[in-house]
Order: sequence, then C-alpha cells, then structure tokens
Amino acid sequence: MNQEVENVECLIIGSGPAGFTAAIYAARADMKPVMYEGLQPGGQLTITTDVENYPGYPDGIMGPEMMDNFKKQAVRLGADVRYGLITKVDFSQRPFVCIADESKTILAQTVIIATGASAKWLGIPSEQRLNGSGVSACAVCDGFFYRGKDVAIVGAGDTACEEASYLAKLCTKVHMIVRRDEFRASKAMQHRVLNTPNIVVHFNSETDEILGDQVVTGVRIKNNVDQSTQEIEVSGFFVAIGHTPNTGIFKGQLDMDEQGYLITKVDSTYTNIPGVFACGDAQDKIYRQAVTAAGSGCMAALDSERWLAAQE
Ligand code: NDP
Repeated sequence: MNQEVENVECLIIGSGPAGFTAAIYAARADMKPVMYEGLQPGGQLTITTDVENYPGYPDGIMGPEMMDNFKKQAVRLGADVRYGLITKVDFSQRPFVCIADESKTILAQTVIIATGASAKWLGIPSEQRLNGSGVSACAVCDGFFYRGKDVAIVGAGDTACEEASYLAKLCTKVHMIVRRDEFRASKAMQHRVLNTPNIVVHFNSETDEILGDQVVTGVRIKNNVDQSTQEIEVSGFFVAIGHTPNTGIFKGQLDMDEQGYLITKVDSTYTNIPGVFACGDAQDKIYRQAVTAAGSGCMAALDSERWLAAQE
C-alpha cells in the first residue's frame, strides 16, 4: 500500500547531464524540482574516466567528478535531489501519479524524463574486469586516448561503423570484430568502413577474451566457422553492440520507437502526453553526448515551465 503522498510541481526522473541540466533550469525558474536519481546516480558518465570534449573544462575532467559538479550546482540552486527510483507511473490523469521506491506516491504537475540509456555489453568476465582500463563503450568519449595505437571494436551496426571510422582517424589500425559474414549497418556506412585502409574487418568472428592484466593489451578472437582463434595486440577495446534506452516503465503510455526510444515532437521535448517531457539519451539514439543531453535537458525544463504557465 502506498501511504505517503507528496505534491510536486516538477518531477525529474534520472540524473545524468540531461536530468541535472533540467534541474538547474527548473530550480532557477522556481519550479521546485524534485529529482529521483535512479539506479545509477550520475548516469553513464560515472563509468567513464576523463571527459575531454565537454566545453568549459580546458584540462578535461573525470566523469564522476563532472557529475558531482552537476549535482552540486543543481542542489545549490534549490533542486531536491533524492537517491531513489521511480518504479511506476500513471500518465492517464493529472496530476501525474508516480510511485517512488514502491512506497511513496508523488503527484506531479509536470514530469521530465531523463532516464538515459545503457550500453549493451558482451557479458564476458574480462570485459568487466578491464572496463575503464582500455574497455569502453564510447569511441567519441575515449578514442582520443588511443591515438597512434591499435584498437579493436566489436559490432556491425551503424554505431560500430561510425565509431570505427572515427577511431581510424586517430588510431594506427582498427580491428573490427563482426559476428556474422555481413554488416547490419546501412550500405553507406559499410562502404565507408570497407574503403578505409586502416580498418581490418574480421567477419564471422567473436570475442573470446580481452587480454591484459591491469590494462588491455590484446584480444583473442574466435572464428565461428572453423573455430580457429587468433590473438591481436590492441590497446583499446570498444564495444558498440547497441544501447537499451531505460524506458521500460513508460511502455504503453508514451510513444516510443521499436527499440524503446521515446518519441518527442519535432524541435521540442514534448512527448505524446502534454506535461510529460523527454530529454537526453532516453530519446536520442543519434548523438548521445553529454553536451547534447545537457542541451535537451535545458529544453525540457523550458518546455515544462512554459507549458505549466499556459495551464494557469
Ligand atoms: P544495432 O542494434 O543496429 O546494431 C548492433 C550490432 O551489434 C549488430 O550488428 C549486432 O550483430 C551486433 N551485436 C549485438 N550483440 C552482439 C554480441 N553479443 N556480439 C557481437 N556483436 C553483437 O545498434 P546500433 O547502436 O549500431 O544502432 C542503433 C540504431 O541507431 C540503428 O537504428 C541505427 O541505424 C541508428 N544509428 C544511426 C546512425 C546514423 O544514422 N548516423 C548512427 C548510429 C546509429 P548482428 O548484426 O549480427 O545482429
């Protein structure tokens, strides 16, 4: 039974760059935002190391420290940031009914969804052990650290092809590990990869093990046709096998594409439910950068402020 009931003007679900930027703007607009941080407070940046592409940090900054700064700024401006989970929502009535931590009912005038996405991983022990020590799920974030070195990337979709092309500009050689005998990516992306001289594609190949004690030193791949194995020396291992948006609790209520990304109206953060806004990686499968997520978090706060004002 849900005993406690709380009225909230602006509920923000999720605590990555999108959620915190929404909180900063909503707090300054006097909307008294309440944020539930979710399963991974601070979001995906808390599992990266140096962030060098977020403007305003000339010397770069560690991902966890940056998210701590986002939080401090939001709290200083008055956001109520809570460690906890929104486990259920009902957007069929207003105020929106959201259940926090299975026990508390929040009645929200507006809801900003910033639940992000999670990278898919291969699920092998060496991947987990070396995560952050040469294993990464984001070439744009971490590729720079491997300039002039050999790297490997696993995946065969548009993301893997795009990231392989990006890495090829920085790295000496890029080994692309593709589990079938063909790509999933669009023809244009395949063409680009196959015409880049320093990308070597290993078809019908799976990752047997990522090698290295403290840091990645290589990868052992297995050919799934003849079962032969091969060890390749690399300093970085990138996983680009897709992301899963964290939008399960909104299924059946908010419009989403077949992969679960929330659909927002063009040039806005409006979902199909007036008063519910979506920003960051939960609705963006193309750019997925901290700075673009932060930008859309700002948009969501402005949209929700203006929407609320129009209701009065
Ligand atoms: P996709 O789901 O399209 O592709 C995932 C790839 O990873 C597939 O090739 C799949 O192999 C492979 N894979 C999955 N699991 C494993 C595993 N365990 N081991 C090895 N390989 C594995 O994800 P993307 O992130 O590439 O793209 C997501 C969506 O975003 C797509 O719709 C894409 O078109 C879009 N996108 C568009 C871009 C653009 O237009 N510029 C850029 C980036 C993404 P298999 O093929 O064998 O299933």
